[in-house]
Amino acid sequence: DPQLNPNYSFDNFIEGDCNRLARSAGYAVSGKPGGTSFNPLMIYGGVGLGKTHLAQAIGNQIKSALPDKLVIYVSCEKFCQQFVDSLKNNTINDFVNFYQAMDVIIMDDVHNFAGKEKTQDIFFHIFNHLHQSGKQVILTSDKPPKDLAGLEERLLSRFKWGLSADLQVPDLETRMAILKKKMYTDGIELPGEVIEYVAHNIDNNVRELEGAMVSLLAQSTLNRKEIDLGLAKSMLKNFIKNSSREISMEYIQKLVCEYFEVPVEMVKSKTRKREIVQARQISMYLAKSHTKTSLKSIGQFFGGRDHSTVIYACQTVEDLIDTDKKFKAYVLDIQKKLKMS
Ligand code: ADP
Ligand code: MG
Repeated sequence: DPQLNPNYSFDNFIEGDCNRLARSAGYAVSGKPGGTSFNPLMIYGGVGLGKTHLAQAIGNQIKSALPDKLVIYVSCEKFCQQFVDSLKNNTINDFVNFYQAMDVIIMDDVHNFAGKEKTQDIFFHIFNHLHQSGKQVILTSDKPPKDLAGLEERLLSRFKWGLSADLQVPDLETRMAILKKKMYTDGIELPGEVIEYVAHNIDNNVRELEGAMVSLLAQSTLNRKEIDLGLAKSMLKNFIKNSSREISMEYIQKLVCEYFEVPVEMVKSKTRKREIVQARQISMYLAKSHTKTSLKSIGQFFGGRDHSTVIYACQTVEDLIDTDKKFKAYVLDIQKKLKMS
């Protein structure tokens, strides 16, 4: 199947405490698709922690052990697009029949269903059909089902039927093992101290770890230098600097408004509507804590307000973070997105 990338296997998915449950559940499912209680199997975790890799590894493993099984891997985004196309072309039956004929469906990044009610309806029916016929459903998501905002309750309740297993940030030892394995696969030898240095300093996610390695190799080729600790140090300085570039107030505003689905211009307006005030206050709070801008300039930016308004906004947000769990979750979620940029 062209959707499955053969480079993602169990073999090159390094096991660690961070992924043990998800990995072994995935392995169990691949030996007996539809025949375990892990149906659906939901793998969740942050960006670059191996969700796609693991989900694809399950698909590849099934294809090689049970070649007669029909396995489809599709990103949620692509599924949504296909659905819209099939509506336009009047081929909705073909669309549904195609998915309902599968033995295994792997859907990546189901958080992208948020807000897409019609597509969720269709997937709900496909899911029920497959599940009732003992077919396997594998899902990935950036959050556990209980925290998936914008998804219909009945779909979420299905997602909770089987097993949800998370992928966490790998510990140092696992990060080193991942780097060693990649180097080995690419036929590159690196001094142990370089591997240790990189694994020590890049501790966000696996994708960044690989990114650091790629730029290290590129630098070594460009400058015709051996990869040693000195090169690793100078490379990482740039790498870390580039990935933590300054966050602008425009960007904060855009992110917050997108998050709460409020129009950007409203935040700068005089309106006292609750959701707008909330977006405005959170934006000010984030501007204060994530930029070096003065209170005066922050007030200016968000609709020509004075610095005492900014102080009041920050105080309000801090109080709400302490007292309102849901509010706190919103702010943390937005902060996470800010840091990912
Ligand atoms: P996600 O889908 O969660 O954003 P990916 O599956 O795309 O993350 O993983 C990002 C990169 O990290 C991929 O190249 C993947 O092969 C690699 N990776 C993640 N986890 C592991 C692991 N445990 N062992 C080896 N490689 C890993
Ligand atoms: Mg992915």
